[in-house]
Amino acid sequence: MAYDFDLFVIGAGSGGVRAARFAAGFGAKVAVAESRYLGGTCVNVGCVPKKLLVYGAHVADELEQAAGFGWTLEEGHFDWGTLIANKNREIERLNGIYRNLLVNSGVTLLQGHARMTGANEVEVDGQRYSAEHILIATGGWPQVPDIPGKELAVTSNEAFYLKDLPRRVLVVGGGYIAVEFAGIFQGLGAATTLLYRGDLFLRGFDGSVRTHLKEELEKRGLDLQFNADIQRIDKLEDGSLKATLKDGRELVADCVFYATGRRPMLDNLGLENTGVELDARGYIRVDEQYQTTAPSILAIGDVIGRVQLTPVALAEGMAVARRLFKPEQYRPVDYQNIPTAVFSQPPIGTVGLTEEQALEGGHKVQVFESRFRAMKLTLTDIQEKTLMKLVVDAETDKVLGCHMVGPDAGEIIQGLGIALKAGATKQQFDETIGVHPTAAEEFVTMRTVTR
Ligand code: FAD
Ligand code: NDP
Repeated sequence: MAYDFDLFVIGAGSGGVRAARFAAGFGAKVAVAESRYLGGTCVNVGCVPKKLLVYGAHVADELEQAAGFGWTLEEGHFDWGTLIANKNREIERLNGIYRNLLVNSGVTLLQGHARMTGANEVEVDGQRYSAEHILIATGGWPQVPDIPGKELAVTSNEAFYLKDLPRRVLVVGGGYIAVEFAGIFQGLGAATTLLYRGDLFLRGFDGSVRTHLKEELEKRGLDLQFNADIQRIDKLEDGSLKATLKDGRELVADCVFYATGRRPMLDNLGLENTGVELDARGYIRVDEQYQTTAPSILAIGDVIGRVQLTPVALAEGMAVARRLFKPEQYRPVDYQNIPTAVFSQPPIGTVGLTEEQALEGGHKVQVFESRFRAMKLTLTDIQEKTLMKLVVDAETDKVLGCHMVGPDAGEIIQGLGIALKAGATKQQFDETIGVHPTAAEEFVTMRTVTR
């Protein structure tokens, strides 16, 4: 049967754009439907605008440090409107780049909501298209618990477009987004409280990293409240918001920001017409080659709920394009040792196993841990400490995990990701010559076993 397209991609986000472009490059006839914004979450309401706001907040640190280096500055003034307008301009530029990338690679771009009407058919704006393969790359959406007053809260989607910087912010959650946005709000001058329901935020990260970040954030004056959760939110007469906590306490703020995880975006997608099944957590069930329970339909990225990171969605998109249209180049995505950063202030960089995971996995573990004051701070009064940690298998000498909290952690951890992928041993770390003077060299000079 002749189809309109070889591949119909739903969603022009990180994974969808990558799959579409490469599939078209391999000679396939490809369409992409996008209902909101080209580039998806990462470009519009995720990684990119987030990092720009983190840079904005970090300027406060630079200003604080300036006096130690002899600079006298007049009192600074921050204007949220300027930062948001500049950020929006950059996002528009990136939207245009994504459009050109798709169009120049021969992909048919359809702007509108896509709904599957069959296992080989998609409808966009009343028009039906047939396709040999359909790729669901619809991403995720913020999830706010169902509490009274939840409509008064904002999520990351809205936070990027707030008209003013709130004076007082309550951040709810203890994952990537909560920690990053708490740093943004606080760095830009808002009195910020982070409420997390458990004992210590960033569940799943290395224990030393979690404790160290907690201490550093507290030194910066962030109000961290653990074992705390909101029961209801009410609007007060003066427009501010009152959050009543489950323990009965009441907190008043101008903005309540929820970052309590993301759900797969499946709204009006027509799954019921296709035979595509969901897994126990509600994400699209796929096999190891991203095929859903309907043979002609594949799914990648946040909507399959594996690792919700842009580079992972990109790798999955690439794998699908190759598998379908260039099978001789197909390589499965390696989910081991994925480096990642939390752009908190100070940031976290991490790759490989945490100490806890290594012990649970039955490894005999040697831990090398170092805490130091970065050289840049020695001419200032700032007492922030950097943490670096290596988790090593005592029997094979293989480095199982590298963890850092400190300036440029994301930049530093990328190279260590290559080392771990190559299976580097602690001896090879030790035999690597350091770059001096840097913080990064500490990773190749830690000699004394801490535990
Ligand atoms: P998305 O990028 O979400 O793309 C899905 C696209 O599908 C969207 O454009 C959507 O409009 C479209 N769509 C949905 N349904 C339909 C439909 N029915 N018809 C047509 N179009 C549809 N990851 C990192 O690696 N580093 C970071 O620093 C980072 N920061 C983040 C910060 C925030 C605040 C958030 C929310 C996420 C962040 N992420 C980060 C995660 C990253 O953004 C996601 O993992 C990534 O975007 C997932 O890509 P995707 O292709 O699966 O989906
Ligand atoms: P996460 O899953 O990382 O964190 C969700 C947080 O909300 C957890 O602390 C969780 O607590 C808490 N939580 C969940 N449900 C509730 C509830 N009902 N009430 C109170 N608290 C709740 O989600 P995020 O929204 O922070 O981010 C989504 C994903 O996006 C991340 O996992 C990451 O993959 C990606 N991302 C990546 C970034 C990066 O690479 N720098 C930046 C931002 C996002 P508990 O731990 O107790 O379950």
